[in-house]
Formats: sequence, C-alpha cells, structure tokens
Amino acid sequence: MKIVVQKFGGTSVATRDGREAAAKRVKEIAAEGYKVVVVVSAMGRKGDPYATDTLINMVKDIYPETSPRELDLLTSCGEIISTVVMVNTLKNLGLNSIGLTGGQAGIITDLHFTDAHILKVEPEHVLRHLNRGEVVVVAGFQGLAETGDITTLGRGGSDTTAAALGVALKAERVEIFTDVSGVKTADPRLVPEAKTLTHMTYEEIVQMAYEGAKVVHPRAVEIAMKGNVPLLVKNTFEEKSKGTLITHVSEITKAWPDMRKGRLITGVTHIENMAKVTVFVEENTPEKDLKMFELLASHGISLDMITVTPERKSFIVKDEVAEQARFLLQEADLDVEILPSCAKVTVVGTGMRGIPGVMANVVQALTRQNIEVLLSVDSHATISCLIHGDKLAAAVKALHKQFHLE
Ligand code: ADP
Ligand code: MG
Repeated sequence: MKIVVQKFGGTSVATRDGREAAAKRVKEIAAEGYKVVVVVSAMGRKGDPYATDTLINMVKDIYPETSPRELDLLTSCGEIISTVVMVNTLKNLGLNSIGLTGGQAGIITDLHFTDAHILKVEPEHVLRHLNRGEVVVVAGFQGLAETGDITTLGRGGSDTTAAALGVALKAERVEIFTDVSGVKTADPRLVPEAKTLTHMTYEEIVQMAYEGAKVVHPRAVEIAMKGNVPLLVKNTFEEKSKGTLITHVSEITKAWPDMRKGRLITGVTHIENMAKVTVFVEENTPEKDLKMFELLASHGISLDMITVTPERKSFIVKDEVAEQARFLLQEADLDVEILPSCAKVTVVGTGMRGIPGVMANVVQALTRQNIEVLLSVDSHATISCLIHGDKLAAAVKALHKQFHLE
C-alpha cells in the first residue's frame, strides 16, 4: 500500500478557500493511486474563533489558574473542530473520508501536559480505514497518555503528528503544506526576495528550525530523519508546487551531485522577543554559577547563548520570563542587569564547518548597518548574534545579502 501523509497548517485551513485548496491537493495525490492520511491544525491564528490561542484566552481570562491538564482538554478541541470541517470539505469533493482524534489514530504520549512527547504510534485503526478506501483525517497536535488523559504536543505539534504517523505507516513521504512555497533562505516576511530551497538535508532544516525558522517543527524533522521518511514542504495554494524536499544527504546527491561539495550557508534565521541577562560577579566562584543555573532551571526557565567569563555570566531568556528571572536572581543576592526586546539572528550552514572567515563576514555585514552585536555564539553549523530587536529586519536582510542568498 502506497501511503502519503499530508499536513495542513493553521493558515491553510483557516478559510473556506484554503480548505478547498487543501482538499484539491488531497484529491490530486489520491488520483495518483496513493492512500492519504491528512493531518490538520486548528483553524487560523489568535483572534480567529477556534484558533488555539483564542480557546486558551477565553478560559484563562476568567480562570488564570486553569490546570495544564484541562488546558490540553480545551485546546485539543481546536484540531477536532478542524478535522470535522475538513472531512466535510473532502466529502464535498467526492472523497470518502473519516475523521479521528489523535488518540483514536493511536498517538500515545507521555503525561507532560501542554508539551507531551510521542512515545509510540499504534496505527492499526488508521490502516483499517485506509484499507476501506477512506481518506483518514487526523486531528494534529494531540495524543492520548496511557492513563487515558488527552495531551497536546506543544507549538508546531501538528508537524510532529504528521511525521510520527508517516514513520509508523511507512509512508512514502510526509508533505507539510503551508502558506509559503517551501523552506526559504530567510523568513519571507522579513526578506521578500528570499529563495525557495529545492533540496535540503535533515541536518540543515533541524538547525534552521531550532534557530527560529518555524516552517517545520524541529521535533518533526528528528522523527522523520530517524524513520528515514522524506519531508516535502509545499504551498497549499500553488497547484504544481515543487516545494522543498528534505532527505538524507545521500538521497540529495543522487538528484543534485553538486551537493556533495556542500553549501556554505543554507539560510538566515531569527528569534524575536528575547532578553539579555547579565550577572556580574566579583570573584570567580564556579559553585555559585552552578547554583544560579540550577535555580533558573528548577523554575523551568530555559537559557540560550550562555557565555561565561570570570567577571560576568550572560545569557538570553524569553522576554516573557525576564522579570521572573530578575526576581529569582535578585532573591539569590546576585547583581543582575536585564536588556529586553532583543533578537537573535543566526547564519546556518552545515557546510561552514572548518571554513574560515564566516564570522568576519557576519560582523562586517552587521557593522556596515551600524548594528551592535550584544552577544555572539557559534557551533559547527551556526553563528548567532544578539542584537537590539528594532534592528532585526535590517540585520536579516544584510546577512542574507552578504552571503549572496538572494
Ligand atoms: P502553518 O500554519 O502552516 O504551520 P507556520 O506559521 O507554522 O504555518 O509556518 C509558515 C511560516 O513560517 C511562513 O508564513 C513564514 O513566514 C515562516 N518562516 C520563517 N522562516 C521561514 C523560512 N526560512 N522559510 C519559509 N518560511 C519561513
Ligand atoms: Mg507550523
């Protein structure tokens, strides 16, 4: 049985036009002889009646202390509503179709409410319906814990549902449909001239996704990579969209022999609304450092861009937890300074490993635009700079140009 999983994001299923376009993509692939599993997100964004954030605000405005368990029960409704609407859209187009919740589709998770991990997928129920010739629509973003509780998978969770189902069903590929033509060299909202990448490796997209390119969730990529299922990112609204094919490097070199040489830079990504935290110390005390990091971790505050010198410890946190971090550190008698509204811009390229001069180019591009670098870190495949948030668009554009990505 040849199976394709097609995932449609919130922007695709928000409007009737979007859902009808999505249904056409399903019909096209079914006509090629594939069995189709459709995974849907909730309809639309904050403010739309059944979007995830709307549901959360509706209850939290009145009951701010709503438990994570009940929040999951609530938000899972967004995808269930979307599933029912999509089943009907498909039926209108003459496709025999049935809807399932995440739990009914066999998505079994741990009990970490609001950010659960998939433990396993029991695909028998889905397979039975596919065998009956039905298009199976699955509510994304949700699962069922072994205790019987409904859980959700965190932001971007529908991508994860699609990848996990693709692996469990041994699908030929997982298609991620969204509102852009594929993975681009930068967020098209900041750089309209960004190019769509035709091929990329799992490694490249994982790096880009962790550094802010939210077009596919990194957890979904890791699941697809482990299960060796190709991902294809496409535009719902384009009829013959080729999109971006994401596979192992060996698969790419078949289609594109030059890839063996590797590309230096794949793209420029960014993460907004971050605060820089600096803690000043008079003497070098590793035990005190450790306590500080443990204190923040025990309150669920995650840190990034950690830089430790004898005189100061710097790192970034999300703006929304900056004041909590300040409070905790001051309570611990530490001298702390916080700079909110920063942005992290990152140049990503698995080909930059061991190539000199990339950092010099990054610095040159930013200083030419009078953009101050507040902090910088690098890894084998990334160079990241923290800048003032109001310079974000200028920084991403400058880096995109500097590395000839346009
Ligand atoms: P969906 O609702 O389909 O899941 P998302 O908003 O999660 O959509 O992801 C699509 C958006 O990701 C695009 O509209 C685009 O603005 C943004 N994006 C950020 N970085 C990139 C990138 N490098 N390539 C493509 N899109 C990107
Ligand atoms: Mg998404």
